[in-house]
Amino acid sequence: MSLQVNKEKDILLDIQGLQKYFPVRGPLGRLGGTKNYVKAVNNVSFRLYEGETFGLVGESGCGKSTTGRTIMRLTEPTGGSAVYNGTDIFQQSGRDLRKIRKEIQMVFQDPYSSLNPRKRIGKTLEEPLIIHSIGNRKEHTEKVMDIMQKVGLQTEQYYRYPHEFSGGQRQRIGMARALIANPKLVICDEPVSALDVSIQSQIINLMQELQEEFKLTYLFIAHDISVVRHISDRIGVMYLGELMEEAPTDKLFATPLHPYTQALLSAVPTPNPRIKRERITLKGEIPSPLNPPSGCIFHTRCPYAMDRCKIEKPIKKELQEEHFIACHLYD
Ligand code: SF4
Repeated sequence: MSLQVNKEKDILLDIQGLQKYFPVRGPLGRLGGTKNYVKAVNNVSFRLYEGETFGLVGESGCGKSTTGRTIMRLTEPTGGSAVYNGTDIFQQSGRDLRKIRKEIQMVFQDPYSSLNPRKRIGKTLEEPLIIHSIGNRKEHTEKVMDIMQKVGLQTEQYYRYPHEFSGGQRQRIGMARALIANPKLVICDEPVSALDVSIQSQIINLMQELQEEFKLTYLFIAHDISVVRHISDRIGVMYLGELMEEAPTDKLFATPLHPYTQALLSAVPTPNPRIKRERITLKGEIPSPLNPPSGCIFHTRCPYAMDRCKIEKPIKKELQEEHFIACHLYD
């Protein structure tokens, strides 16, 4: 973990009421006479402090990747704001948006699919410098060589093609491409989930070293809570497009308060085998985001659900310092 989070520290990114709804096509799209939407992200709010790693965790399909992609404007938001260094990303266009994009980069789960198979790696890494008009040709080559070394690649690999690299090396290329334009914030979307466990720790360690060196802030998105725990200063837990709980990592693991977080953590092995946690098995399947439950979105699977939970949506509140939760149990 990179730093002790201090509320007085500068807020780098402030997400408020983020919504991303996808219109449903086909016969289901007009069911009941009204236009239907999949609410992939619904009213999500959180902040990123400069220099920290904020982990966003939840089961697959909970909207965490859509959150990252919407902040980057790879998909347009339905509502809310994303204020980066005082400027709302969602209100920018053209040159102003490009300027912000230079400072916010993304690392994807599968860097191979975003690499041009017919382009040598050196040329691929040069692209962000050309797009953002940074330096001249000679400087491009120097910068590419430099970043390749920093992410643990050999400079001789400059002339190689993507298929000549292993999965771990490709993720190093993904990091190099994200960092070459000197960003402040990196959104990492499942950066290690496609890698072998032994390679995962190498890449996570590399990311931590690069964070120190480049003074980076990370939004780290992953479904594996053990990985998120290892790298994050604070963690937000998402379920069906909504943020259920948010807390500093140690606090979240010591005292998870939301019934969903408790279930999620009960499946994580403890470092000390003598400490046994009772495994909580949730009933039923994750409901369809096309027809999400009323009231608390988790009530159909919650072991503590009350009548009120079916009607009234809990509002996220700060229960203890920096520990936020959306649950009627704590009203
Ligand atoms: Fe469970 Fe109710 Fe809390 Fe939702 S609000 S998590 S249903 S107790």
